[in-house]
Amino acid sequence: MSRRQKILEKVMARVRVDEETGCWIWTGPTSGSEGRGAGYPRMSLGSQTVAVHLVMWTNEHGYIPGKKEIDHYCRNRLCVRPEPDHLQLVTRKRNAIRREQARKEMRCEEI
Ligand SMILES: [Zn+2]
Repeated sequence: MSRRQKILEKVMARVRVDEETGCWIWTGPTSGSEGRGAGYPRMSLGSQTVAVHLVMWTNEHGYIPGKKEIDHYCRNRLCVRPEPDHLQLVTRKRNAIRREQARKEMRCEEI
């Protein structure tokens, strides 16, 4: 089995597929429940702790360029599905804009 397949299997063993949204929901550990970087999927790979959605994206599409980030287009932080409806490679700036938009939408829902 290739390294790529091994990683995929390891991740998929801890994923629950959401039939409604198509999201692959991570059921393993996360980066915690507080702060800006919270709620993202984590796993150990070799001796490192890594972000699972980044691993999945890289595994499928290759290296992430320095000025780019992976955005959760589906807005589900625990989703690790490396497809455009879920994870997208965006510029840092674009990601910040989207984050701000999502925050505004959330505020509207609260009212
Ligand atoms: Zn998703």
